[in-house]
Amino acid sequence: MSLKIDSQLIHGGVDGDSTTGAVNIPVYQTSTYRQDGLGRTRGWEYSRTGNPTRDALEQLIAQLERGKYGLAFASGLAAINTVLSLFQSKDKLIVSDNIYGGTFRILDSVFKNFGITYEIVDSSNVEEVEAAIDDDVKAIYIESPANPLLTVTDIEAIAKVAHKKGVLLIVDNTFLTPYLQRPLTLGADIVVHSGTKYLGGHSDTVAGLVAVNDEKLAERLYYLQNSIGGVLAPWDSFLIIRGIKTLGVRMEKHQHNARIIAKWLGESGYATKVYYPGIEQDKGYAIQKKQADGPGAMISFVLDEQYDYQIFLENLKLVTLAESLGGVESLVCHPASMTHAAIPADIRKEVGIVDELIRLSVGIEDVDDLIDDLEQAIKIAKRG
Ligand SMILES: *Cc1c(COP(=O)(O)O)cnc(C)c1O
Repeated sequence: MSLKIDSQLIHGGVDGDSTTGAVNIPVYQTSTYRQDGLGRTRGWEYSRTGNPTRDALEQLIAQLERGKYGLAFASGLAAINTVLSLFQSKDKLIVSDNIYGGTFRILDSVFKNFGITYEIVDSSNVEEVEAAIDDDVKAIYIESPANPLLTVTDIEAIAKVAHKKGVLLIVDNTFLTPYLQRPLTLGADIVVHSGTKYLGGHSDTVAGLVAVNDEKLAERLYYLQNSIGGVLAPWDSFLIIRGIKTLGVRMEKHQHNARIIAKWLGESGYATKVYYPGIEQDKGYAIQKKQADGPGAMISFVLDEQYDYQIFLENLKLVTLAESLGGVESLVCHPASMTHAAIPADIRKEVGIVDELIRLSVGIEDVDDLIDDLEQAIKIAKRG
């Protein structure tokens, strides 16, 4: 039976425990497994290589992303580290100018030391991406909508360009999750996730996920997962599975709140710019609508200079000043000094990550309470 995504969120992957009938997959808190004889295992050998709880999550993310193979890691960056380990010295990656700060950092201060280089492009400009593909380029790495300006990239168009030139397309799908966007169906080769965010959904677990369709690519990634060893623990795998069960209802409510807040911010006069692909004036609106089932719930805005952004951030009561996103609670962050501090100041300015830029991860609280909180803090922050 082919289930729709709302049912798959709850019953996808491994649906419960077939031996006991437990409706949830148990936490297999074990590092190793009894072998019945030399070379005679029951399918499990050692938990870095494979663990039934992790396996259930891996099957689930594969299914949700419309892929064949899934992999779970100890963090989003452990997942990205493993994916980047597909490449070798002298290979080059084309990277979007709007990516998670930590992804930039691992490229710039880890993989660059191993001779893997990168070139930054504006991936919302397909011609610019195509022009950057030379013989050394092995992959294109994008996020859409991207961090922190919610820049939308046409995934299908970039996939076409990538495949014409024989390079891989890697898409970080953290901001929308497979509930709203499935990059593999748009032609991406590898999807990566920080499961820490919407998939876990409760700001209580750090995790990373990968999904692919191609068997050879999957084999290579499983090999690297086992060799590098940054795997997700059984208990954390359980928590991410549990989070995913409510992903649908959470995303709907996150989006409902985000749409109202983006509209309010745009009309309030408090912000000189609102970045949210769910509003028609947004540059990425049309492509976003074409390739995803919704705009998600991340909003960035530039606070008008009459308000002191520091005082604003320090006076929020319901909305928490913190790194991260995608939890049930609303979080606010200051990209220039927090999530994107690893990006050099000149690049930050160039792409629009100004000091007054505020990023809001809209939670599922009552939206009127959220607006009241934002407004009271903005009023306190009014200069002189
Ligand atoms: C948080 C995040 C990451 C890194 O994930 P961790 O789980 O923190 O390691 C990667 N990409 C995006 C878009 C993120 O938001």
